[in-house]
Amino acid sequence: MSSHAIARARTMVVASLFSAALFYAAPLQAQKCTISPAQVKLGETLRIACPAEFTSAKLNERSAKLYPQPDGKRFGLLPISVKDVPGTFSLLISRNDDGAPQTLPVVIRKTIFASQNVKLAPEIEGLHSTPEEMALLTSFRDAISEIRSWADPLAPPVSGCMTSPFGVKRLHNGKYTGEYHGGVDQRTPEGEAIRAVAAGTITFAKQFNVLGNAVGIDHGQGLESMYLHMSRLVVAPGAAVQRGDILGYAGSTGRSTGPHLHWVLYVNGVNVNPAQWVKLQPCSGAAKKR
Ligand SMILES: [Zn+2]
Repeated sequence: MSSHAIARARTMVVASLFSAALFYAAPLQAQKCTISPAQVKLGETLRIACPAEFTSAKLNERSAKLYPQPDGKRFGLLPISVKDVPGTFSLLISRNDDGAPQTLPVVIRKTIFASQNVKLAPEIEGLHSTPEEMALLTSFRDAISEIRSWADPLAPPVSGCMTSPFGVKRLHNGKYTGEYHGGVDQRTPEGEAIRAVAAGTITFAKQFNVLGNAVGIDHGQGLESMYLHMSRLVVAPGAAVQRGDILGYAGSTGRSTGPHLHWVLYVNGVNVNPAQWVKLQPCSGAAKKR
């Protein structure tokens, strides 16, 4: 064989291997779910995208429903709690037909959170939630509506830098509270407009002892947001809002030491890190600030 003929033969073999690979890979690929990010930190949200026949996902003891999307596929959010244990686990994704479930490895990365002391005046520290307030917040977190109103990307509710990030271990007047910061604090001047991070329905807009004037929004398919300590509210329960609509104005009501916005994202009732969803700049020296 001439070297020319060898080169041609090699090209044909490579070409036929390539087309065979495409032929076999395409149908298999089409039936699989994908997750992102491949490795999650504590407090982050796992996104699960699947073909139509996959309906739910389970990681350890936490389940997530996969909802039908306009493109005919399914999509769901699975929260990783700050209190979860890092390691490699199996995500089990179940189908609504006789097909075998799919398992995917999920790596939960070790995540270090800072500690932060908050100085509270006695009359502020003495504020506590009533049983009715606790019940309202529980039912808000538990209510998962089927219709998706939210879309990427979420909008930041205010423009100020972040004075306290998600997940910091909280001390009140030097004593550990055993709690972590379940949302983020952003710097706001008193009276700055607070805006919805995504479209949704107002679940509550009322005054709470600890949360101050607060708004909760159901964005559908497991995503909810909550905005605290406002001076004034301009929305009512049941109202539909669009991304960027004004909910109220910044203040320092409830357990708060000065005007700021504390806001929270819930996925299936679990506090998740808003900084994974919205770009937030930390204020300089934020970890020591408040
Ligand atoms: Zn806060």
